[in-house]
Amino acid sequence: MLVSAKEMLDKAKAGHYAVGQFNINNLEWTKSILLAAEEKKSPVILGVSEGAGKYMTGYKTVVGMVNGMLEELNITVPVALHLDHGGYEACYKCIEAGFSSIMFDGSHYPIEENVAKTKELVAVCKEKGLSLEAEVGSIGGEEDGVIGTGEVADPNECKMIADLGVDMLAAGIGNIHGKYPANWKGLSFETLEAIQKLTGEMPLVLHGGTGINEEMIKKAINLGVAKINVNTECQITFAEATRKYIEEGKDLQGKGFDPRKLLAPGSEAIKQTVIEKMELFGSVGKA
Ligand SMILES: [Zn+2]
Repeated sequence: MLVSAKEMLDKAKAGHYAVGQFNINNLEWTKSILLAAEEKKSPVILGVSEGAGKYMTGYKTVVGMVNGMLEELNITVPVALHLDHGGYEACYKCIEAGFSSIMFDGSHYPIEENVAKTKELVAVCKEKGLSLEAEVGSIGGEEDGVIGTGEVADPNECKMIADLGVDMLAAGIGNIHGKYPANWKGLSFETLEAIQKLTGEMPLVLHGGTGINEEMIKKAINLGVAKINVNTECQITFAEATRKYIEEGKDLQGKGFDPRKLLAPGSEAIKQTVIEKMELFGSVGKA
């Protein structure tokens, strides 16, 4: 059964480790991530962007697939199904479809409107038992066609949103989605520290986990990050493994064209990437 992300993140924050959010795109992605979490006895958050939800034909399909898999694969670790960067309407659609967690990305609204809409969603999520993530300060890079500038969040605005009763808070600290450019300045730990001081127990979320080096990840966890989003890295390792299979001509040997064979190396690559991240984040054995 799906659970809200609140308990797993409160535990992570108190225990100084982070839970990974791994975005899903299809059945193979979902299966690989769930198998990795079960094998490593780690709590896990499955992220679904609006674009991925649409690709999978809609949020109800996603909920049906994930719930079916939890049962058929006998998954015993805590699993949250989370809307990633949801607009206001998508939040309501996911609540209705049976998601256990949502992110309302109101970072593009003026702060007053972000506050008003977040407040409303806090009440709805509390009533229905979902966890809610809010965002302050847009995260750079491109996500589903939305290009953020990678601004650094205002710690006072973070406190304002945290005080509304959200369960986790994403704050821009110079992190970006996708691959990091060669001239990237790195994370602003100064900002993270200031946010942490003002928001206390609130689990902080680091988006754009692909390409942030291990040392920075560990430092961020020490400074209060309890959830780290990983998306691009699974896409890259999946593509690399699939390319290798094709380039080696394996699809031309015997029944190598069978999709279950063709997609197997990529699926295994996702699983290994997820396991590596769980080890780095310290969530192994915490389920
Ligand atoms: Zn993000």
